[in-house]
Amino acid sequence: MTGTAVKRALVVLAHQEKTSFNYAMKEAAVEALKKNGWEVTESDLYAMRFNPVASRDDVTGNPKDPESFKYGAECMAAWKEGRLSKDLVEEQKKLEAADLVIFQFPMFWFGLPAILKGWFDRVLTQGFAFSMQNMYDNGNFKNTKAILSFTTGGMESMYTPTGINGDINVLLWPVQQGILHYCGFQVLEPQICYSIEHSPAEVRSRILDAWQARLGKICEEKPVSFVPNENFDMTFPGGFALKKEVVAKHANDKYGAAVGQHMGKALPPDSQVKAGSTRL
Ligand code: FAD
Repeated sequence: MTGTAVKRALVVLAHQEKTSFNYAMKEAAVEALKKNGWEVTESDLYAMRFNPVASRDDVTGNPKDPESFKYGAECMAAWKEGRLSKDLVEEQKKLEAADLVIFQFPMFWFGLPAILKGWFDRVLTQGFAFSMQNMYDNGNFKNTKAILSFTTGGMESMYTPTGINGDINVLLWPVQQGILHYCGFQVLEPQICYSIEHSPAEVRSRILDAWQARLGKICEEKPVSFVPNENFDMTFPGGFALKKEVVAKHANDKYGAAVGQHMGKALPPDSQVKAGSTRL
């Protein structure tokens, strides 16, 4: 939180069309948040013609090593020295000011549209968003909440443990753990609109109403849980793996700790879509 009474939200939209359901979800979010006293900033990525390609152009001035340009290290140096490109800095400022960030997008190939993936690639620079010391529970955005709000072409039943597309919890893991939680964000339950093109108009209307109702009480929500850092040996010799005593203690558990730390067991049901206490 920013430490003030004002609540600030950033809504990042990745859809080309204003007639789309994703745009309607964005509009519904902005309206509901404002009605509930939030200050809202938007990043409409296609409208902004946001450049999603991480390249040398993201740093201005002289690179540290022009012969062998290392994107992560160069961006960290540029961030420290105020040499990141203007469009990145603008997005970083919006992100820093926010208490809540909503990412609104259609699922593309089991993941993010490229323009949004590129936003993560370029905006969450090393140093600004994370470091080896500041990751996961200690990530730089540990006081900021984030929600993935997305639509799918596929039906909900297709995204179950027996569905043809597979368990939605597995698909959410790379973004919720690998991007958001890695940078410290408190990840709230995703808002998923399944099979939106095949939903009747009255269902779509109810979805928009439910989204607005949810946002009216968003401050009361608990985040999705991840395995806390304290369970890992956070040293290089320890390999940042679960501590041996933690593994031993949970050896007979029915479920693994998380989608990633499954410990060779069944995946914990709905761990990425429902808030709840961690199993470790
Ligand atoms: P739209 O077609 O824009 O909207 C759906 C309906 O809502 C329309 O009838 C629209 O008129 C209506 N609507 C708009 N505004 C409102 C409003 N205010 N109130 C009520 N109704 C409204 N799907 C998967 O499941 N898995 C994948 O891996 C996947 N990969 C894809 C990859 C690519 C490259 C592409 C192009 C698509 C992929 N899809 C996938 C499908 C994609 O996720 C869906 O097409 C998308 O989620 C639909 O969302 P939309 O906002 O574009 O829908």
